[in-house]
Amino acid sequence: MATTAKIARDERLAIAKAKNTPKLRCRHRNRCFRCGRPRGFLRKFQLCRICFRKLCHEGVIPGARKASW
Ligand SMILES: [Zn+2]
Repeated sequence: MATTAKIARDERLAIAKAKNTPKLRCRHRNRCFRCGRPRGFLRKFQLCRICFRKLCHEGVIPGARKASW
């Protein structure tokens, strides 16, 4: 059974792992530097979609604005 603590530990491990360069380039995985999410990654900001949205709402990312047309 995966407890919350274990998931948190795995997540931290994944973030730590992402920091060092893998032996083979194809093993590289873009990860959000805030939460370590491997999917929904925005290269431009090095963030995942969720963290990007959160920071956008807080006004931390300069120039980022919600789309409206
Ligand atoms: Zn994130």
